Amino acid sequence: MKAMVLTQTADIHTGPLNLQEVTDPVPGPGELRLRVRCCAICRTDLHVIEGDLPEAKRPIIPGHQIIGIVDALGEGCRQFQIGQRVGVAWLRQTCGQCRFCLSGRENLCAAQQFTGYHADGGYAEQTVVPEAFAYEIPETFDDQSATPLLCAGIIGYRALSRSRLPTGGRLAIFGFGSSAHVVIQIARHRGCEVYVVTRGAGHRRLAREMGAVWVGEDANAMPVKVDSAILFAPVGDLVLPALAVLDRGGTLAVAGIHLSDIPALDYERFLFYERDLRSVTANTREDGRGLLAEAAEIPIRPHITTYALAEANRALQDLKDDRINGTGVLVMPT
Ligand SMILES: [Zn+2]
Ligand SMILES: [Zn+2]
Repeated sequence: MKAMVLTQTADIHTGPLNLQEVTDPVPGPGELRLRVRCCAICRTDLHVIEGDLPEAKRPIIPGHQIIGIVDALGEGCRQFQIGQRVGVAWLRQTCGQCRFCLSGRENLCAAQQFTGYHADGGYAEQTVVPEAFAYEIPETFDDQSATPLLCAGIIGYRALSRSRLPTGGRLAIFGFGSSAHVVIQIARHRGCEVYVVTRGAGHRRLAREMGAVWVGEDANAMPVKVDSAILFAPVGDLVLPALAVLDRGGTLAVAGIHLSDIPALDYERFLFYERDLRSVTANTREDGRGLLAEAAEIPIRPHITTYALAEANRALQDLKDDRINGTGVLVMPT
């Protein structure tokens, strides 16, 4: 099969992914093999490629927002059939036995493995996934529209719950990329007002089109205090302005898997009055199923920019340089 393979950590602008012919993957016990239809790109792929995350597997085929058709079943598979469409997300495996796994917090399992990081992902014509971690995809979504839900959507959904946004409340979003453009649709569906702080003019335009009540570059200009805020931009310097827009008792959730250093903070000014600063770490399968069900009910309509598999370097360069509105999706040749 053809795949975009990373052999060495490098800046995305050096074009580190190479199109290669590699051996077709073989599904192990309990695993499905998929013919990949498309795979969305994610900022986490950049963190894997550029070494912001500790190196796990080399060479690696990145990609963890995959839509594919089951074309082979490993021993013991019972849940899915050949020909069925399924989705693959970032969370690939947990131990199932630790105190976190047993208490509905498998996102905190110390033995967890991730797609496109510990195991090869979806920048390829085929991939394998443990069937217990594959998702059924609601029919409402065509293949390309479903891909952003599998990470941008799931992480956004968990970030939203970590931000404790009350129904009908006010939410501030910092950074308006792939995840944020899904979250705004969920928040509005829940009757909330959304305020967006983002640098890119294209991102501000999209946020306005999607119904943000206020959009700006500078959080100091925000006209009201909010109940909840989510920081999507991987920029620690934004933590203070994001805390500053919270009302008393408000909550800030930091959604990214990687964040630059947070500056020293003045307790009285930024945290006192029971404002909370919370992180978001991966997701549980329950988050995934919850997001897919709510996304189908709304229904979420992602903005998509498509690229060929061989253009993965360019797609990720566009993501890094803020040239993508919504989500970039690699589409396999048919
Ligand atoms: Zn565990
Ligand atoms: Zn992701």
